[in-house]
Amino acid sequence: MLHRFERPQSIAEAARLLASGPWAVLAGGTDLYPAHVGRRIAAPLLDITAVAALRGIRRDERGWTIGATTTWTDVVRAELPPLFDALKAAAREVGGVQIQNAGTVAGNLCNASPAADGTPVLLALGARVVLQSERGERELALAEFVLGSRRTARAADELVVAVRIPARSERARSAFAKLGGRRYLTISITTVAVVVDVDSRGAIAEASVAVGSCSAVAKRLPALEARLVGVRADGDVAGVLDLADLAPLTPIDDLRGSAAYRRDATATLVRRALREVTP
Ligand SMILES: Cc1cc2nc3c(=O)[nH]c(=O)nc-3n(C[C@H](O)[C@H](O)[C@H](O)COP(=O)(O)OP(=O)(O)OC[C@H]3O[C@@H](n4cnc5c(N)ncnc54)[C@H](O)[C@@H]3O)c2cc1C
Repeated sequence: MLHRFERPQSIAEAARLLASGPWAVLAGGTDLYPAHVGRRIAAPLLDITAVAALRGIRRDERGWTIGATTTWTDVVRAELPPLFDALKAAAREVGGVQIQNAGTVAGNLCNASPAADGTPVLLALGARVVLQSERGERELALAEFVLGSRRTARAADELVVAVRIPARSERARSAFAKLGGRRYLTISITTVAVVVDVDSRGAIAEASVAVGSCSAVAKRLPALEARLVGVRADGDVAGVLDLADLAPLTPIDDLRGSAAYRRDATATLVRRALREVTP
């Protein structure tokens, strides 16, 4: 039984309601409802999908802003530079088309599943999460926002309103690779996102590599990122990976794969993604 349902039209109205007591924020509902099968949702529901200002992708001088209720289908259909190829690839792999039509970018982050496909990509893109409440706005790096499995830094009265991606050069490229137990409609065993920006002489100027499903929270591989800088993009970029670079990962053994298999598969996906982003 549902005790209360509100569908505000503006961010201010949503923030006012959130300040009045505990609410369950509802976006696409593709995580929220399956998590409550056979159980009542304890808090009243705050459906944010009528807030037009929360949806869409905008560009300004600082970079890109992805509204919280932008769906995965919106991402797939948006005209975006190659920097976003990884996000588009991840969007196409979130469930099936019906899930992509309803599921949102911020919902994926707020649900904080270790297997969320959006998190490693947005981590590699250097995303920052924008939170709004009646107390004001604050912005957190994604690594400061997702604190653990199903745990975020969001306070109960805060709404995630957007995700900001810093601008990079027009040469920036990205790639996403996902391994699941089957090709489609699968929970990730490991996911890899790579973002590489190349300088005018063809050397890697900036590199980010993030891995999902191999720790409670998606992790970047800073040792690998540091060694990639300065490497010629037309050289053996995939060969730069050293297995010791995977040290930040803490994969588990479960029914989808052993920890050793996850490490091995991750190394393969990292090399594959690095080849994809370089000529
Ligand atoms: C069949 C199926 C297949 C799936 N496959 C995949 C997959 O392959 N990869 C993958 O990553 N995920 C997958 N998912 C999970 C889900 O579709 C995604 O995580 C999706 O992006 C969630 O978005 P949503 O808008 O539906 O979130 P919701 O279910 O609406 O919300 C999720 C959580 O975030 C909170 N929340 C949502 N938006 C906000 C906001 N703006 N501010 C504050 N809190 C908020 C909600 O309160 C809730 O706790 C799948 C789900 C299903 C049912």
